Amino acid sequence: MDVLFVSPGPDLRYLIGYDAVPLERLTLLAARADDEATLIVPALERSEAERTPFARAGGRVVSWGETDDPWALVRSAVGAPRSIALDPQMWASRVLRVQKEWPDATVAAPPVVAGLRSVKGDDEIRALREAGEAIDRVHRRIPGFLRAGRTERDVAGDIAEAILDEGHSRVDFVIVASGPNGASPHHSVSDRVIERGDPIVIDIGGTMPSGYCSDCTRVYVIGAAPVEYVEHYSALLEAQERAVAAVAPGVPCEAIDAVARTHLTEAGLGEAFIHRTGHGIGVESHEDPYIVAGNTTLLVPGMAFSIEPGFYLEGRFGARIEDIVVCDEHGAVRMNTVSRELCVI
Ligand code: ZN
Ligand code: ZN
Repeated sequence: MDVLFVSPGPDLRYLIGYDAVPLERLTLLAARADDEATLIVPALERSEAERTPFARAGGRVVSWGETDDPWALVRSAVGAPRSIALDPQMWASRVLRVQKEWPDATVAAPPVVAGLRSVKGDDEIRALREAGEAIDRVHRRIPGFLRAGRTERDVAGDIAEAILDEGHSRVDFVIVASGPNGASPHHSVSDRVIERGDPIVIDIGGTMPSGYCSDCTRVYVIGAAPVEYVEHYSALLEAQERAVAAVAPGVPCEAIDAVARTHLTEAGLGEAFIHRTGHGIGVESHEDPYIVAGNTTLLVPGMAFSIEPGFYLEGRFGARIEDIVVCDEHGAVRMNTVSRELCVI
């Protein structure tokens, strides 16, 4: 590709450390294959852009006034490229404008930056470890928030506060799924009152000041869970352990999914495991590589992803155990170390 255009979003944060808010005024990184990149920003955001690592390292920043045509600046930065790569999350309005500006160019959204992002460097792994430690501290505080008679929403409020207290700069999601709500993997929170004996699936994550994300799921129960649930849970724990143990360089992503799925199928829970085993994580909480059947990508050292098998039985209960792991030369290194046992309160 002759040119890469990146608009505000995770790719821009990853490439140049600029956490620009996506607004209607054009902010665009235009990177030519044969020249330096140019960051085009609205004049009122110039001072923010000047503070980015990109600008501090001498990167070229040009700004446009309220009545200027920002695309004229883009045209003078890139000339007449024959092929243009776009970041895959670019707004449709921008994509259409690019096609109008360069009608003869090939325009595509190849996974240029996604490929770079999927393999982490040492500093990124350090950031993911810090994020993992922070969310583990939140999980350790959760038993203190859970009491029969409180609602999921009450508990979620305390958890959101703890996510910030423990070092995140943003709460990305808080799932508190008690009793039958646990059968919906992406249940958020509700006003359901938590009762004794309810398994409670708690999946939480946030973004650290480093820009890297956390994501960890554990299951809690006040009093005793149903006997059948405890049996299912131990099968799930084993499935998660086996999938983590299967991680090694050269192993296809889909093989990790198969390990977890085979074990749960043997335990009679194959039909109840209704999602993929995991997703990559970094400056976004879901990114490449995806740990799913059909993904033949081979793991390489530096890939970071979740391993989160679960079971979901409609109208009854559910469970998921989720850790972030990093593949190194030998196998998986867990970023989450808080106990994976069913946490009985
Ligand atoms: Zn996850
Ligand atoms: Zn999660």
